[in-house]
Amino acid sequence: MQVLVLGAGQLARMMSLASAPLNIKVIAYDVGSETIVHPLTQTKIGEGLANAIDQADVITAEFEHIPHPILDECEASGKLIPSAEAIKCGGDRRMEKALLDRAQVHSAKYHAIKTKEDFTQAIEKIGIPMVLKSALGGYDGKGQWRLKDHSQIDSVWSEMQICIESSDQQAIVAEEFIPFGREVSLVGVRGKNGAIQVYPLAENVHTDGVLSISTAIADNNLQQQAESMFCAVANELDYCGVLALEFFDLDGTLLVNEIAPRVHNSGHWTQQGAETCQFENHLRSVCGIPLGSTKLIRETSMINILGEDSLPEAVFELAGCHVHWYGKQKRAGRKMGHINVCGDYSGELQRKLTKLATILDSTSFPALQPWANKTAD
Ligand code: AMP
Repeated sequence: MQVLVLGAGQLARMMSLASAPLNIKVIAYDVGSETIVHPLTQTKIGEGLANAIDQADVITAEFEHIPHPILDECEASGKLIPSAEAIKCGGDRRMEKALLDRAQVHSAKYHAIKTKEDFTQAIEKIGIPMVLKSALGGYDGKGQWRLKDHSQIDSVWSEMQICIESSDQQAIVAEEFIPFGREVSLVGVRGKNGAIQVYPLAENVHTDGVLSISTAIADNNLQQQAESMFCAVANELDYCGVLALEFFDLDGTLLVNEIAPRVHNSGHWTQQGAETCQFENHLRSVCGIPLGSTKLIRETSMINILGEDSLPEAVFELAGCHVHWYGKQKRAGRKMGHINVCGDYSGELQRKLTKLATILDSTSFPALQPWANKTAD
């Protein structure tokens, strides 16, 4: 079985690493350069979309911002899983919001904006403060504005107007500001036969809009809410593969922030913390193999390595610490790899995080600041 991944980044790489034991081969299509590459070595193995499609038994995606003609051509081959519609919903906030409405799951009140009149209506409908997000191409907090008071209306509009005019398809989605207590996400998988398995919720901390630490948590009430919304969205899309839902936790009530129709950064902890990792489960699902157990096997946190290409030896010496590099060229703020840190009994994970906070510089790893403060106390 040969799986073609649209996108040749770290998610394709980790799918490739999970594929070998299943006798599945993963190749990646770099959408920008239109080349087929090996997802681990980035060695070029071919050219052109038609050629890539020909070589594949199954086609899947590692990101949602893929030009629609590419998705449509893949779908026409009958090999694309999940569907082009599901992937498009993840890449267009208008489609995403319409999907959440159809699935009847809670999300922030919204209004789509193309013109200044739409903006005025959005302010009337939603009120201030408000969060404004580009409908297309936004990720990791990019393409967003905050409208905090009326005096900012004109300046925010001029910035949004430039964005809207950048393409006929572009628009802005205005959202009510949610004063959430924390952000959590649910990663799960739906098989071809409609079977669903979900992982435990992860609590996510972002630094400057980018995920910095993700920890699997046990909370029955939130887990149940998240699972029922996950099932509603996955069933509405007749989804196949791994899907992630990101939520705001507002005093014990979850609201969906966004969906990701793919393996997700907040699911990387499953490589060490769950019986079957998200990458293997995605491949199982799209290849029609029964899903693997999503059971938590040890408490785990995932820490993103941003803009660094080396780590102190002490990290490798710490038992329960697993480093995953992505083989990328160093660039400020770039996701270069992650560390999964596990604890086998109550309290051990917290002690390991405290230890890591003494090893790693808190400027480069701001996510560890709370544990660094504990040491200082
Ligand atoms: P997003 O790209 O939609 O995930 O947004 C990036 C970050 O902005 C989120 O992780 C939240 O921290 C924050 N954010 C997004 N939407 C809202 C909202 N409606 N209210 C408050 N904060 C938000």
